[in-house]
This record gives sequence, C-alpha cells and structure tokens, in this order.
Amino acid sequence: MTEDGEGIGKIDGFTVFVKDAVIGDVIEGKLIKVKKTYGYGRLMKVLMPSADRVVPPCPAAAPCGGCQLQALSYEAQLRFKESRVRGHLERIGHFAELPMEPIIGMDGEPLRYRNKAQFPVGRNRNGEIVTGFYAGRTHSIIPMEDCQLGSPVNRLVTKTVTSFMENYQIEPYDEENHRGLVRHILVRCGFHTGQVLVCLVINGKKLPHHEELVSRLREQIPGLVSVSLNVNREKTNVILGRELINLYGPGYLEDLIGGVRFRISPLSFFQVNPLQTEKLYGKALEFAGLTGDEIVWDLYCGIGTISLFLAQKAKQVYGVEIIPAAVENAKENAQINGMDNAEFFVGKAEEVLPEKYRQSGGSMAADVIVVDPPRKGCDEALLETMVKMAPERIVYVSCNSATLARDLRYLCDRGYELKRVQAVDMFPMCVSTEAVALMSLVSEEEK
Ligand code: SAH
Repeated sequence: MTEDGEGIGKIDGFTVFVKDAVIGDVIEGKLIKVKKTYGYGRLMKVLMPSADRVVPPCPAAAPCGGCQLQALSYEAQLRFKESRVRGHLERIGHFAELPMEPIIGMDGEPLRYRNKAQFPVGRNRNGEIVTGFYAGRTHSIIPMEDCQLGSPVNRLVTKTVTSFMENYQIEPYDEENHRGLVRHILVRCGFHTGQVLVCLVINGKKLPHHEELVSRLREQIPGLVSVSLNVNREKTNVILGRELINLYGPGYLEDLIGGVRFRISPLSFFQVNPLQTEKLYGKALEFAGLTGDEIVWDLYCGIGTISLFLAQKAKQVYGVEIIPAAVENAKENAQINGMDNAEFFVGKAEEVLPEKYRQSGGSMAADVIVVDPPRKGCDEALLETMVKMAPERIVYVSCNSATLARDLRYLCDRGYELKRVQAVDMFPMCVSTEAVALMSLVSEEEK
C-alpha cells in the first residue's frame, strides 16, 4: 500500500494503484487511467480477500476518506507502518543495520482515541441542518455524527448545536455563495480531566442568542468548561481563523500528560491521541537519558509539551517555537506546573539556535537536543549548528519518516551514531506514522 493508503497491485508486471484494495487482496479492477509506467484502477470485486482484510468498524469509512486503513486488521496496520519507517531509513537514510524496536501500538481497541474533532455544518438534501464530513475530495457534507475515532461526547455536542440552530433559524455557512454563519463545530476533550471545550467557527462576529446556546451546552454536556467563537470570514478551506471570542469559561481546557498539566485553547497544537502521546514522550524521555544535571534544548516545542515532560528530569530546558501564541502557552504551562527550569524563545529553530550559538562565541553547549519538526523535517542550518554544539545525545521525534531518514543520515555522516529507533502508532486507521530516534555522539576513541 502507498503512503496514501492505496493498494499497489501488479498486472503482468505493470503497477496499478487501486483505492480500497489492501495488502494481500486479489482483486478484479477497472483501469481508469494509464501512464507510461503505472496506472490507476478502480476496485470492482475482491476475488480473494487478504487474510488481513476486515470489515471496517465505521460504516462511512469508504466515502469519508478520513481513515485510509480501516479495512486492514490492526496487526497488519502496525506491520505496514513499521515497515514503512524501516524502508525509509534503509532506502533514504542508507542505514544497513537498523537498531529498530517493534512498533508500539494501542493497547485497547484502536478507536475513540482522538481528543479533537472538527465537524463542518451544512444542509442535507432535505434542507435539514447536518454535521458530518466532506465526501472525499468534494465539499458536500455526508451526515455523520459519531466518528469512531472521536469521543462519544461529540455527538451530544453536534446535536445540541444543530437543534439550537434549527430553533433560532441560524444559518449554516454555504461555501458556494459565502453566506450563512456557522462553518464548523470544534470539540476538544481532556481525556484525564474529563473537561470539554466547544468552539463554533463562524462567518461573522456575533452569534445571535449565544446565551441560550451556552445554557443548553452546560445542561447537556458533562464536563463542559469553555465555549467560544472563532471568527473566520475568509473564502478558504482553512478551518480556523485567528480571532477568538469567549462566551463561557476560561477559554481553554486542561489536560495532563504524564503528570504535567497543560492548558489547551481552540488554536493550540496538541497531540490528538493522548494515550499514545504519553508513550511517545516516555520514549523520548528514556532516550534522552536524563539524570537531573543536563542542559536540554527542545526545538519545535509547540506549547512546551515535550519540554516540560523533560524538565521534570533535567537541570534546564530551553524551547524554541515559531508561533508566538504557542510560546505564551508554553510559558504559562511551565508556570502552572511550578517549573522554573524551562525557558522559551519565539522564532525559527534554524535562526534562533545558530544566532544564540554565534552570540555565545561558540561556547553554548547542550547535553541533549530534542527536535520534533513538522513534516518537512529540519532545516540544514539547524542541523549544522547542532553538530557544532556536539550534544552527547540527539533525540529526533518525527511525523514523517522520509525526512527523518534524510536528517539522520546528515547527522550520522558528521559524528553521530544511530542507537535506537522506535515507531509509535499515534493514528490507528490512518496512514500517518510517528517515530522517535536516538543518536549519540561517537567519542574520539571510538572514531
Ligand atoms: N513538540 C510539540 C510540537 C510539535 S509540532 C508537541 O509535541 O506538542 C511542530 C511544531 O513546530 C509546531 O508547533 C510548529 O508551529 C513548529 N514549527 C514549524 N516550523 C518551525 C520552525 N522553523 N522553527 C520552530 N518551530 C517551528
């Protein structure tokens, strides 16, 4: 299967990509597009189902397209992800002997793991207000209130909001003519605290009768702590705008990861699978090998999740993050946890770190550097400075094993050795894969 979850099939040696076919299926398909060296097919009939094929747990799996791997057993999903990370490290990183540990999957049922959901609001063919998802590659809404990846509370929230809209004749947003008010319903849940935050994304500045909505939500939703509006008046596919208007509560919810408390606002980046996040960060902490004396840099730190997790065991942690609001959250999070050994800087990691290193006249040192970059990986200017700083250990948390492999190769050509690689499944049913790697500095004698 490809990185998008399409089946890769062969017919007389010719490669064909077929959506909805899974590894091991023998299928009958229809060629719908043919290029020189490959083509695309449509699945017509499964002639011999793969031993790993299962009935998707969600009835809307096929039209929705949000999950790509539902027709594959969970064991097979894990094998697929582990082998993708391995493949990237071998092919792109040219690592021959990989110190790779078996992927960490979810312990219980790999469903209902997401702490965040965003439902578009629209009308169905009968004119009723509905929430659901966009049918693959289109913008027509297929009604669906109970996504199997999300919390059961989502359904209660969407029902409460849509019935409020019906009662007060509040229009859902219509993309075609850029009219109507309510665009999306955002729900976030704190899995450890049971807190729930609701935010309505609106094409305007005001929601008529908002006190009534707040009072209905407070009545219906256990754990509700915050209700807010997000203003998005642009003609855009981007869900959230920048402006927030608070209607009820503090404007954020709180949740815990490994005993550290975090404040999460509608706009904050926060890992969506809290149970697996704890395992991922636990591995990062283990790889960092902290004893309490270390200086640690956490680059691409977001709201300081990894930084504060590490600060519990380090002497001093410095975090760098490009989004100013996230850095504000990070500082606040340090404070509410009573941690005074974490400091945060706003800016690009590839500018802040080299700049600080230059200012120190090359004396700035670190024992451990942790990076958790977006999909495109680390900028070379950053990697270059990391090599100059020569920390004992580098821990690389990655959501894209292709750029991970590229960056590990860079570091391993410049004095580092790859010690451990661990894939963690943060997104069951979906193709994305997270991995964490440990590199250590090769000492002079070993060279
Ligand atoms: N470590 C955090 C966030 C990881 S997501 C966590 O686990 O929660 C990657 C983060 O990198 C995002 O917060 C994004 O805003 C930030 N980012 C993207 N490009 C950046 C850059 N060039 N320099 C610093 N931060 C960047």
